[in-house]
Amino acid sequence: MLRGKFKKEFSLKKDKLYQTDIAVVGDKVKFDLNDDGTGFIYEIFSRENYLSRKAPRIRGASYRGERLEQIIAANIDQVFIVTSISEPNFNNKTVDRFLVACESSHLSVKIIINKTDLDEDNSVKHWQSLYSDIGYEVFLTSTKTDSGIEELKSKLPGRKNLFWGQSGVGKSSLLNKIYPHLNLKVGEISNYTSKGTHTTVTSTMFFVGDNTYIIDTPGIREIDPYGIRKEDLGHYFIEFKNFINDCKFSTCTHNHEPGCAVVAALEKGLISEERYDSYLRMLETVEEDINF
Ligand code: GDP
Ligand code: ZN
Repeated sequence: MLRGKFKKEFSLKKDKLYQTDIAVVGDKVKFDLNDDGTGFIYEIFSRENYLSRKAPRIRGASYRGERLEQIIAANIDQVFIVTSISEPNFNNKTVDRFLVACESSHLSVKIIINKTDLDEDNSVKHWQSLYSDIGYEVFLTSTKTDSGIEELKSKLPGRKNLFWGQSGVGKSSLLNKIYPHLNLKVGEISNYTSKGTHTTVTSTMFFVGDNTYIIDTPGIREIDPYGIRKEDLGHYFIEFKNFINDCKFSTCTHNHEPGCAVVAALEKGLISEERYDSYLRMLETVEEDINF
């Protein structure tokens, strides 16, 4: 538990809590509130969980291999990855990177595929079954036809729900459909600010009644999971878990090693080519933030 006086000020505007450098969105804190809406946080309770990423690279900055961890939000009950089937096209590599970030933080995560009204070649079925076969709940939605909105809405009450999606997938439109009073801006290209040495994390938490919270992450376009070793990456591809213990070497990275049970499962069609390709791509980029 963190104790002590924090000089950081915060402001409470209606039911929005803005992030400061010390407390992150979702933190449980003790604070004094002034009449003018400003306040003083003097204690942050330990976090049940949190979602983080490697701090993004800032153009022009020099790095010595290491990158810092940036916390996006804390005490999250479930995460929704928002994607679209078209405009922009479904990007399974991005989804897989995000799934790894959630799995490695022990966060419950679900997938939304929006814009199903634009699914001309029926590719939504392929992605839906790929992810539901390995155990993820997949919601198919359209804010144009309202298809799937009620089902999604029924999953949110009583929880702290974090929504993440690449720009343009319809995350704001979806949240506005479910909670019209949020009145989030739709169809705008969000500005990408970098202040000081770290790109600002712009997550905002909304209280929507009924012990229910929505954490929106409009400024966060990319999630590179933080602090993962190559030999651990396979554990965060949840369908690999059934095979990993049968690999010949306990440090197997399921790449080139002999006697790899994951590669054997791939060859038998028990692991999909798409997921294995994602895995290999990620294998190249993890570990750059770990100091040995
Ligand atoms: P965000 O950047 O993820 O918050 O996306 P927005 O909610 O701002 O939406 C981006 C664009 O996609 C806007 O032009 C929306 O009208 C459009 N859009 C959102 N949902 C849907 C949908 O279900 N179907 C279609 N066809 N367009 C959508
Ligand atoms: Zn292996």
